Amino acid sequence: KPKVGVLALQGDVREHAALLAELGADVTLVRRPEELAAVDGLVIPGGESSVIDKLSRIFGMQEPIRAAIAAGMPVLGTCAGLILLADTVVDAIDGQESFGGIDAVVRRNAFGRQVESFEAELTVAELGPDPVKAAFIRGPVVESVGPAAEVLAALPDGRVVAVEQGSLLGLSFHPEITGETRFHRRFLDRVRAVSAAAA
Ligand code: GLN
Repeated sequence: KPKVGVLALQGDVREHAALLAELGADVTLVRRPEELAAVDGLVIPGGESSVIDKLSRIFGMQEPIRAAIAAGMPVLGTCAGLILLADTVVDAIDGQESFGGIDAVVRRNAFGRQVESFEAELTVAELGPDPVKAAFIRGPVVESVGPAAEVLAALPDGRVVAVEQGSLLGLSFHPEITGETRFHRRFLDRVRAVSAAAA
């Protein structure tokens, strides 16, 4: 069983934990460095990125998470989680920092306010022909990607909403609330591959 954590400082932690357990993972809620050290992959949920950032620093988690990312730990970030994985954040508030890892510029709240939340169908070649049903809830958009990062999905108007860099996967939307399991499966495949290589 892949041992994975969900960063449980703030946000929709339960939805990710439930989906990962359903997919056969051994799931831990991660709030402390020793909990992070005991898992082989991490999900950073949606929520409020500035709050997750602030709590991560209060809980002494920023450096351990950055170190885990640098060491190649697979991470899946959705919405606020994508913001936290971006090397550069536009419209950050309150001295907000990110963990970084994905060579991309990500703009917070790029689709407007909560009431402007929407669902869209995306084609993601890497996931096969069935479209992805994606829920956007005050989500960010990827404004540009550097040479190290790869675009996985864009809206019909061209705005990039999914990026990947090595074992890091960042999504503007929330697959965990629309029954979309393929991103989590892809993340778990990475976790299995990385832990098999290390064994
Ligand atoms: N607007 C939030 C932020 O900046 C993200 C919203 C979400 O995760 N659903 O962090």
